Amino acid sequence: MEIDKLADEAARLLSEYLRIDTTNPPGNEGAGAAFLGSILREHGLEHELYETAPGRSSLLARLSGSGEGKPLILLNHIDVVPADPEGWQVDPFSGEMSDGFVWGRGALDMKGMGIMQLMAFIAVAREGLPLRRDLVFLAVADEEAGGYCGVRALLEKHPRELEADLVINEGGYALLDLVPGRPFFLVACAEKYGMWLRLLRRGLGGHGSMPTGRGALELLIPALARLLGERRSLRVNPVMEAFFARLAPYWEILEPYPADGRTETLLRIVEERDLAAVPALNAVLRDTFSLNMLHAGNKINVIPDRAEAFLDCRLLPETEAGEFLDFVRRALGDEEVEIDRFLDMGRAPASPWEGEFYRAVEETILSFYPGCVVSPFMLSGLSDSRYFRARGVPCYGIIPARLGLSDLTRIHGVDERIAVQDVKDGVHFLYRLVRRVCA
Ligand SMILES: [Zn+2]
Repeated sequence: MEIDKLADEAARLLSEYLRIDTTNPPGNEGAGAAFLGSILREHGLEHELYETAPGRSSLLARLSGSGEGKPLILLNHIDVVPADPEGWQVDPFSGEMSDGFVWGRGALDMKGMGIMQLMAFIAVAREGLPLRRDLVFLAVADEEAGGYCGVRALLEKHPRELEADLVINEGGYALLDLVPGRPFFLVACAEKYGMWLRLLRRGLGGHGSMPTGRGALELLIPALARLLGERRSLRVNPVMEAFFARLAPYWEILEPYPADGRTETLLRIVEERDLAAVPALNAVLRDTFSLNMLHAGNKINVIPDRAEAFLDCRLLPETEAGEFLDFVRRALGDEEVEIDRFLDMGRAPASPWEGEFYRAVEETILSFYPGCVVSPFMLSGLSDSRYFRARGVPCYGIIPARLGLSDLTRIHGVDERIAVQDVKDGVHFLYRLVRRVCA
């Protein structure tokens, strides 16, 4: 069958794709888009390129359906984050295939998924199945820098082309060691939103030999220390509650929760068992803020008259931005710290973990990974899904790869890789899902 041949080819094509350096910045997604376009052309399929900035192209290919439903979009991004070859076992842009893996920056995030989607798309096209909705393959630029010249620009300039009933994107994986003996598939249904703050404190400049206690750094640092001494309260929001409910049968410490099903019980367990001590859980159980940059002073014997700090804040979808800013202001305890909110990154509602489309995702996963637990999840980071969710389109983040928890550090880290078998199986998985939703 066509699909078997395409699945067998996928890992080799991924290896080639990984050799195209699409590190963002600068992105250079045009080269990646041209590569994907050449594969489509070899199979006699057309595509459009949208260049939103010089060299920054996104690619869209469409199979037309009867229009009974709105399109299904298979969404992936072409760009990758930088990779410092230092520390890698292989050259991160070699696309090396060894030990049963395809290695390279983007293997998991998310060129691997891009190739799986492309192969599934081509298989459906080659079969000429009648579709009840359009199937769209959409490979975009700039996800790793916020999607401003990727999805966001496309939605602004070509909203009709990006209409959809459902988007399948990155986000969750089949985790092998979260519970014993069976895969646990996280379906990303929601994500936190981001807010970047610049804190500026002015002070009294002067000669380093005559300190006044009013230098900008002397004033900013105690305020920052007060802020860093605070933490936002723990909260279990509906997505995470659904996650813990599915986890409960396998995690003994959660046992009291399914017995009474009360959010308060869950919250008590979270607090008593100190689940927030695990950074990955802390990140989905409260608003966080991370002090990541400080700028002040330029000479050792000069007292600076201004000092700046930069905070990366990640907020639960339920948190009101204004309330969070009030918290920061109060915690700093210094009204003269000027707070500048210089970037907000998309607050969007969660996609439902019920209904026709979620069920299609869930049942495909269950049919593919016997014994698997499927659960909604919230990402602490951001993806392009937020742009579609903000328009009311459900987005599910599912990369059909089987990973151990330790493999997650490879994403944006060293030695990123994906199993050849996962690439191959992933093509079949997406093909099954697409047929279920479109045929
Ligand atoms: Zn990604």
